[in-house]
Amino acid sequence: MIRIRGLHKSYGEHAVLRGIDFDVLPSQVVVVIGPSGSGKSTLLRCCNGLEVAQAGTVDICGKTLQANGALLPEAALNQLRMQVGMVFQSFNLFPHLSVLENVTVGPRKLRGMGRDEANALAEDLLKKVGLSQKTAAMPASLSGGQKQRVAIARALAMQPKVMLFDEPTSALDPELVGEVLQVMKLLAREGMTMMVVTHEMGFARDVADVVAVMDGGVILESGSPEVIFSQPREPRTREFLQAVL
Ligand code: ATP
Ligand code: MG
Repeated sequence: MIRIRGLHKSYGEHAVLRGIDFDVLPSQVVVVIGPSGSGKSTLLRCCNGLEVAQAGTVDICGKTLQANGALLPEAALNQLRMQVGMVFQSFNLFPHLSVLENVTVGPRKLRGMGRDEANALAEDLLKKVGLSQKTAAMPASLSGGQKQRVAIARALAMQPKVMLFDEPTSALDPELVGEVLQVMKLLAREGMTMMVVTHEMGFARDVADVVAVMDGGVILESGSPEVIFSQPREPRTREFLQAVL
């Protein structure tokens, strides 16, 4: 579903990704962990073309999104990006649009979906994330957890094949983290392919098929949560886990 080969990215002199080879298989949930600055967000952003790496390739659903510094041409890029939903730490909702409109705007503008069909889809998705009662609300009136659930519904409205999450709960008050993780668990159970950067080790243990540990722009090791949390191979993985667990 996602195939990454030989990915190198630097900002000026600073090498941020130093040779990433990684696969995310269909319906897999991959949780990416690692210290601040290790390149987790950069890796995720390379998977939807928000960042371009100087060397290496990223394929999504069998199509090459970027290769050796070149992104797909714009029309094809936009098509492929629709396959990849992304949810960020900051919810980035459109403040002047209602919850329902936040979810319908993508399908209507980018997929050419009619208003009725888009509304029906959005209502289904808002039900799934537990926000049926909030369709008419404005983002400013929502809690952080509710905003993030709208952001998830909005990403799903594009009917992506893969969902990327970059610390989706890091900006939330602790009591609101659970409701967002619940929605992500539901997606995982439904078979959504997901790549999740998070510090929520409980989520990684319960939901991940694979945990990938990043440090200094490389994937130090990856494996099942049982192996990574109980018998990590790399000393630096142990140090990181001791600091966060
Ligand atoms: P965090 O856990 O803090 O979110 P991260 O693992 O997501 O960290 P990245 O955001 O991918 O790390 O950043 C990796 C490195 O690249 C960091 O040293 C960061 O300062 C640097 N970096 C990221 N974006 C840029 C940019 N636009 N220009 C220059 N340097 C950048
Ligand atoms: Mg980050």
